[in-house]
Amino acid sequence: MASLPYIVGNWKMNGTRAMLNEARAIDRAAARLPKVQVAVAPPATLIYRTRDSVELIGVGGQDCHVKESGAFTGDISAPMLKDAGADFVIVGHSERRTLHAETSEIVKAKAEAAHSAGLAVIVCVGETEAERDAGSAEAVVGAQVEGSVPGTDGAVDRLTVAYEPVWAIGTGRVPSIDDVAAMHKAIRVKLVAIYGDAGAQVRILYGGSVKADNAAELLAVPEVGGALVGGASLAAESFLAIVGAAA
Ligand code: PEP
Repeated sequence: MASLPYIVGNWKMNGTRAMLNEARAIDRAAARLPKVQVAVAPPATLIYRTRDSVELIGVGGQDCHVKESGAFTGDISAPMLKDAGADFVIVGHSERRTLHAETSEIVKAKAEAAHSAGLAVIVCVGETEAERDAGSAEAVVGAQVEGSVPGTDGAVDRLTVAYEPVWAIGTGRVPSIDDVAAMHKAIRVKLVAIYGDAGAQVRILYGGSVKADNAAELLAVPEVGGALVGGASLAAESFLAIVGAAA
């Protein structure tokens, strides 16, 4: 059975309690759109309150530590996210890979820690502009997928991969539809090589400057199973326009 399109809002380091109104509005609208799966990843400070404020939509973290607990000042573990009410966690976002020097090996360890804690995982991958210009985008992303996805038993049931070209994040630029299609196909081939037939079930999201005016076209691309949305997820109105395009 084909899974529902999955639209996830990544709030990044944005939002105080006032943002809970956006989450409530998204949740109310999601109740009228049963053919799309909706989730938000608020900053860690809001996970617990978001969970308490919504009924239908998923709630997730934006990162987790590889360890369950310990002397890691400022970090948050996967069991802590679970305890706070998270259903899933995003790992390997390009801002983590770049600004926190996270390698695919670390991302894989985080994904496995999340699965062990009972969380679903969204593993992000994507090439830089220089890598695309050099013609190595598929090789780079393929290696990231191979190195970052969890090897945990039953991993595929709780795994989503998000293809997010780094140069498209927050820039208003998006790859051509042909390039999105080619990369999603290449990721699918890689997932099947890793997981066998089960790899065909893993949802692959597109992320990078998804907006109301390009969402329908991007979501119609074969192998695009939804969208990971940054900037446009910060207001219910713009996020719901994207959700509506998936419904
Ligand atoms: C993101 O950072 O995950 C993202 C997709 O951002 P934006 O939609 O703002 O490009």
